[in-house]
Amino acid sequence: MLIIFSALIGAAFGSFACCQAWRIRLKEENKKDPGKRSVCLNCGEKLAWYENIPVISWLLQRGRCRKCGKKIGVAEILAEIFGLVSFGLITWRFVGEVSSDIVGITEFLAALNIPGLVAALSVMVGMIILMVYDGKWQEMPVGILLYTIIMGLVYCGITICQNGLSWENLLQILICVGLLAGIYYLLYFLSKEKLVGGGDWMLCLAIGLMLGKWQLALIELFLANFLGAIVMLGLKKKKAAFGPFLVIAFVVVFVFENAIMRYLSF
Ligand SMILES: [Zn+2]
Repeated sequence: MLIIFSALIGAAFGSFACCQAWRIRLKEENKKDPGKRSVCLNCGEKLAWYENIPVISWLLQRGRCRKCGKKIGVAEILAEIFGLVSFGLITWRFVGEVSSDIVGITEFLAALNIPGLVAALSVMVGMIILMVYDGKWQEMPVGILLYTIIMGLVYCGITICQNGLSWENLLQILICVGLLAGIYYLLYFLSKEKLVGGGDWMLCLAIGLMLGKWQLALIELFLANFLGAIVMLGLKKKKAAFGPFLVIAFVVVFVFENAIMRYLSF
């Protein structure tokens, strides 16, 4: 029940993320914010409640505005589906960490790592906004990057509180952050923004804080670049936004962290 509920909330946050991305963009271009209600960006028609249902409304209207027929765009439904899947998977990971001996809702909620789950989902909201923004305009807004890093720090702090602080843990986190953010900062700095954008290393900083183990940092790097290469070959593009691949790889590594670490220990 909790996983399904969380997945539905995730779809709503995917929709919210697109809204936020557009609002930040319009503000940066010094254009008027269309107001509190959602509107068609082409004809300005206010959306009715049944047009605001994540995924379903887009499918029913086949991705077009009800009034003017202008295409809404594929990023919108992809963000909603990604919100649904990522929230569902992350919640599944936390539910899976509760011992299977536990029965009853009160005992279950007491055993569930609720602070960790809430912090991880908060990071996810920032990451979805970043991936939509990067996918559309090949850059990332600094405010949302900072929000994501701060929520990553909160998650990291919660994990340290739960596992206890040791030099070994701290070193692990520093190496993980150093590998991810360090490599991308160097690429950004040395190539003068030609190879990677300025937002990538900051997103990597947040991802490093969330993963906290050097083995996971390496798998994150491999997976993100592998996915990016496949998609760029498929689209026959030479350059594409890298943020979305970093985020997709992060969700996979974060959700299957325990399985990956077990596999690596063999
Ligand atoms: Zn319209």
